[in-house]
Amino acid sequence: MAVTPYPASDFPRQPAALVTGAASERGIGRATAHRLAREGWAVAVMDLDEAACEALAHELSQTHGVPALGLGVDISNEQQVIDALAQVDAELPQLVGVVNNAGISSPTPFTEVSTEEWKRVFDVNVHGTFFVTREAVKIFRRHSLGRIVNISSASAERGGGVYGRAAYSGSKAALLGFAKTWARELGEYGITANSVAPGSIDTDIMGGRLTDERKEVLLQELPVGRVGTVDDVAGAIHFLLGRDGGYLTGVTLDVNGGSHIH
Ligand code: NAP
Repeated sequence: MAVTPYPASDFPRQPAALVTGAASERGIGRATAHRLAREGWAVAVMDLDEAACEALAHELSQTHGVPALGLGVDISNEQQVIDALAQVDAELPQLVGVVNNAGISSPTPFTEVSTEEWKRVFDVNVHGTFFVTREAVKIFRRHSLGRIVNISSASAERGGGVYGRAAYSGSKAALLGFAKTWARELGEYGITANSVAPGSIDTDIMGGRLTDERKEVLLQELPVGRVGTVDDVAGAIHFLLGRDGGYLTGVTLDVNGGSHIH
């Protein structure tokens, strides 16, 4: 399949993006990696499952004809992240985008959540995002160009989602704050930072496929009349990462079908 190079000017001919948490079969990260590769981006995918990442990278190259790299990384492990970003920098074209998508949920009510669960959620969702972004920004600054997209959640905006509770919502709210601060601090280096806050998307993060019964309940709060898909979110991410997204920074795109309007 022919590759459509990104239009030149402020962008390199073929930019690269890193998508964390991309191995999940029905997840937002995988759909985003495919969307970016389809548009001609080189893509690095990271997840806990190394074999699944390597298989996905192979699939991206075969399907879209772009360079791709799959890396088994626990983003909460600082050294693994440092090594992985060095590999991305060495083996792929110029890194322009990072999508902080890897995340875990926590459905446990606040009064019942254990210290271990609380810490694990923050280790992955907050500290992992910090490690990945810090290393990516070092690369972005060398080129005076970079795009950061944090995948937050409507849960952070409305005080809990249909599934996630305090630890999840709090960690996802931190990502909104990070993006806004990075937008202010890093703008002078040609770096934008934004968030995407999805509503309920039909993936496996809420403990498996949405049942028809659960969908029925969700639909009652959805003005658009359907549950969101991974492609809805991937499209928003692609827009923020791309050339047309260059004048948006510090914003949160609510990809939620109108379930939370504020
Ligand atoms: P998903 O299918 O569970 O994908 C998340 C991926 O992140 C999984 O492959 C997971 O691996 C990986 N991951 C977990 N911990 C990691 C770590 N320490 N290092 C590297 N990778 C790790 O979920 P999704 O629904 O696509 O969610 C993607 C993002 O969107 C998440 O940040 C989520 O919070 C956010 N979001 C989702 C929804 C929704 O309704 N689906 C709504 C709002 C926001 P394992 O499967 O092995 O744990």
